[in-house]
Amino acid sequence: MKSGLHVYNTLTGKKEKFEPLSPPRVGLYVCGPTVYSNAHLGNCRTFLSFDLIARYLRYDGFKVRYVRNITDVGHITTDVDEGIDRIGQQAKLEQMEPMEIVQKYTTDFHNIMASMNILPPDIEPTATGHMIEQIEMIKTILANGFAYESDGNIYFDVDAYKKDHNYGELSGRNVDELFENTRALDGQSEKRFFADFALWKKATPEHIMQWPSPWGMGFPGWHLECSAMSTKYLGEQFDIHGGGMDLKFPHHESEVAQNTACTGHGPARYWLHTNMLTFEGSKMSKSLGNSILPNELFTGNHPLLKRGFHPMVVRFFMMQAHYRSTLDFSNEALEASEKGYQRLMAGLKVLPTLITSTSSDIDVEAYRAKFVAAMDDDFNSPVLISHLFDAVKSINSIAEGRLKITEKDKTDFIALMDGVVSEILGLTSIEETGDSGLTNGLMELILDLRARARSNKDWATSDAIRDQLDALNIVVKDGKDGASWSLK
Ligand code: AMP
Ligand code: ZN
Repeated sequence: MKSGLHVYNTLTGKKEKFEPLSPPRVGLYVCGPTVYSNAHLGNCRTFLSFDLIARYLRYDGFKVRYVRNITDVGHITTDVDEGIDRIGQQAKLEQMEPMEIVQKYTTDFHNIMASMNILPPDIEPTATGHMIEQIEMIKTILANGFAYESDGNIYFDVDAYKKDHNYGELSGRNVDELFENTRALDGQSEKRFFADFALWKKATPEHIMQWPSPWGMGFPGWHLECSAMSTKYLGEQFDIHGGGMDLKFPHHESEVAQNTACTGHGPARYWLHTNMLTFEGSKMSKSLGNSILPNELFTGNHPLLKRGFHPMVVRFFMMQAHYRSTLDFSNEALEASEKGYQRLMAGLKVLPTLITSTSSDIDVEAYRAKFVAAMDDDFNSPVLISHLFDAVKSINSIAEGRLKITEKDKTDFIALMDGVVSEILGLTSIEETGDSGLTNGLMELILDLRARARSNKDWATSDAIRDQLDALNIVVKDGKDGASWSLK
């Protein structure tokens, strides 16, 4: 491999040359969603960032095994162990089986990923599908003296671990300093040390999701799931572990500790963390109540939105920021991205129509080198996009007769531009799916007519509209703020 890729490694706090354990193969693990609610745009940004990373690794010639899990048990409502399981809580709220909740939001997640052309991982393991692996891992941690049992719960023994290891090597956190903020929390009596975290939680009778274990009925801790699943599919040591920055502590720090407690070393050589999507400066999150769902953005059906934007425009918007920078969401920024996206795609369309000459002012190889250099520099998509705009300028100059291109250079330029835009950036032409502005306008009209029919109790008309849209693969959902639509 003659890859010149450099990545920013959270473990060392430096940009380093990327050297996989056994090239050309690359093992990549990314923490997937907890499927207890619809994925919001913030979640999408993280998965889009890793889509770009996986796509570029492949473009660069690596054979990637991309594992991204589904958390379907064990992720509790707070960072301390006294919270309730998010899936179980939602199941009660929606009066469904926990696995119905898991299925419902996994399907939604897959649909959203597909709409944004985020490629599926190679393996998508679920936590509930790996109970045996998790129990085995707990046994090893116990046998190695880094965990203890307390009334049917198994806790990781941070104090014992700290004697020879640094619980904080990834996040830079100092647990002793954290103590000040955590002291006031109740229910820590079962733990020996406040920072100990649950590997296995005893299930109280009202807890719906529980499994048998050597320590009684219970369920695994969230941190343990990722250690067990990454080890199973990528081995005891693999190349890249990724996730959002908000997962660095305690989730990823605890993964490092669990793996080290089993094998003597952490799971991954490179830890990549993606930055947050913000709204007016605050992290977009469900709990802050400032989250926007992808479908709301695609349709414009949200009080904070002026209108809808095509998923490809949203994708382009997100890739105009580097994955390690925050990105602030606004109507204006999306409008600017829409113009940029249209300019880029128009350039790609003009390129094959250019009239060729016997001489060339275009150095295709110089463009290729610039594109690759941008992405080799820690996947710098905004710089790549600025070079693509330079290329579009040249294309337009050739179209206007101010520059020349030969037949061969034109063929190479088309292959290069199409390859970079579709394979690395994952952008497709909107025309393939229709014009988003027009579609949104027409859909608004149709849903308005349906709402009128409903208010007149004209159920025949409203049902006919819904069924005919259904035949076109458009699903109509009725919510408290009116109807919204999405593609199946
Ligand atoms: P969750 O389903 O809450 O476990 O989150 C799934 C992923 O989305 C995690 O990797 C988080 O780091 C990421 N995430 C959550 N909120 C945001 C946000 N506002 N911006 C970017 N990524 C986020
Ligand atoms: Zn994880």
